[in-house]
Amino acid sequence: GGADIECEMLVLGAGPGGYSAAFRSADLGMKTVIVERYATLGGVCLNVGCIPSKALLHVAAVMDEANHMADLGVTFAAPQVDIDKLRAHKDKVVGKLTGGLAGMAKGRKVDIVRGFGTFLDPHHIEVEVTDGAGQDKTGSKKVIKFQKCIIAAGSAAVHLPFIPKDPRIVDSTGALELRFVPKKMLVIGGGIIGLEMATVYSTLGARVDVVEMMDGLMQGPDRDAVKVWEKQNASRFDKIMLKTKTVAVDAKEDGLYVTFEGEGVSPEPVKYDMILQAAGRAPNGKKIGADKAGVAVTDRGFINVDAQMRTNVPHIFAIGDVVGNPMLAHKAVHEAHVAAEVAAGHKAAFDATVIPGVAYTHPEVAWVGYTEDQAKKEGRKVESAKFPWAASGRAIANGAEYGFTKLIFDAETHRVIGGAIVGPNAGDMIGEVCLAIEMGCDAVDIGKTIHPHPTLGETVGMAAEVAHGTCTDVP
Ligand code: FAD
Repeated sequence: GGADIECEMLVLGAGPGGYSAAFRSADLGMKTVIVERYATLGGVCLNVGCIPSKALLHVAAVMDEANHMADLGVTFAAPQVDIDKLRAHKDKVVGKLTGGLAGMAKGRKVDIVRGFGTFLDPHHIEVEVTDGAGQDKTGSKKVIKFQKCIIAAGSAAVHLPFIPKDPRIVDSTGALELRFVPKKMLVIGGGIIGLEMATVYSTLGARVDVVEMMDGLMQGPDRDAVKVWEKQNASRFDKIMLKTKTVAVDAKEDGLYVTFEGEGVSPEPVKYDMILQAAGRAPNGKKIGADKAGVAVTDRGFINVDAQMRTNVPHIFAIGDVVGNPMLAHKAVHEAHVAAEVAAGHKAAFDATVIPGVAYTHPEVAWVGYTEDQAKKEGRKVESAKFPWAASGRAIANGAEYGFTKLIFDAETHRVIGGAIVGPNAGDMIGEVCLAIEMGCDAVDIGKTIHPHPTLGETVGMAAEVAHGTCTDVP
């Protein structure tokens, strides 16, 4: 049949994966179309993920810091939160970035078709056009014929089946809407997203409980890093319930009554004013009619790809959250560039050695590559070196002497293969460790690199000197 639009490259989804893929495709000379259901570009990350959460975490960090100043001899008045203004600030940050993307798409002559796309066959996609807000279908349809396609359909929050629909029960998107600050809040899920939102709401005045099924918070980093976080947050949260299952939620007019199952939890339901569901995200692979294009989707909704980001159908690629973990924006962007380059006939492959993870909580926890736990499990011989921030002048001056910087080395080659940093700005500093791993640096390379003093960043160099036995800054 006829098509309304024809293109060389069709990108399904405009998150960090999709827009990066589309822009690179266009830069490489392909006539490119993006299909995106929502009104703005940027996907989860820019609209309801990375960026709005960091806008709020920044405000929370300043409030926390102001609060600590009393110990240093400077007292501020108790904070007064104008939640409408705060929400407007967050929306403005998001708007700046998504607006910027729209301009960048226009500059590259990338066409954007707004609507919900599903495959008709390996070379056609049908788009149910959505209204301006991207919520409602308008009834009109467009068919796009493409030579090549990159699927960047992303992921969505998992909703636990037994939890009722109620405006007081939200996922991360709802929590970021910042409609109200509850008196008492339950966060289901002690992963990064749950803990970041728990940090924001607790700083804004909510009393927060966190419940987690596993035996620890944050699954990524070594436990020594998580311990530091826990100690610093001991008074922030009312209760952190580990190895505990949420089994029932009863939404009554006067509150949400939650029943837990686990060691040491009361059998009586506990009352909350708000619940955040942050128990994981599921890929959107099953919602795009992939079978019509012959693209294989796993039971869980992931699309498997090779190092060139190709699906089982050679002219159809997939990237980002929909291809697997870790579900992180920086991974999506790198995969996007590979897919676009391969599609344009270039030689490229996804061959990153490591993908860093960061919890932008207070303090931040950042990690990359091997953890000691993982090395132990795999029977790999490693050496680790830790530089305690109690020995860093800058950390002491900043009131962050509880932090640490840890490097993990291969015991034989002494090359750095992992690292973890806990403390303010840990996420900014882990980049150096990523570079060191990708470059194959050993302890001497890092230790002999002159870092600026006094900075938190120099703790990376000092940890390397600890490993090499040349650190003169620790007792
Ligand atoms: P997405 O961003 O999910 O984008 C997919 C897009 O495709 C969406 O816009 C969707 O509307 C569209 N789409 C899907 N199906 C269709 C269809 N059939 N038709 C039309 N359009 C469709 N990651 C980090 O690296 N750092 C962080 O600090 C961070 N913070 C986060 C905080 C929160 C609260 C959340 C929820 C996530 C966070 N993430 C963070 C994860 C990050 O947002 C994702 O990894 C990233 O957005 C994935 O990008 P993507 O391009 O694969 O998909």
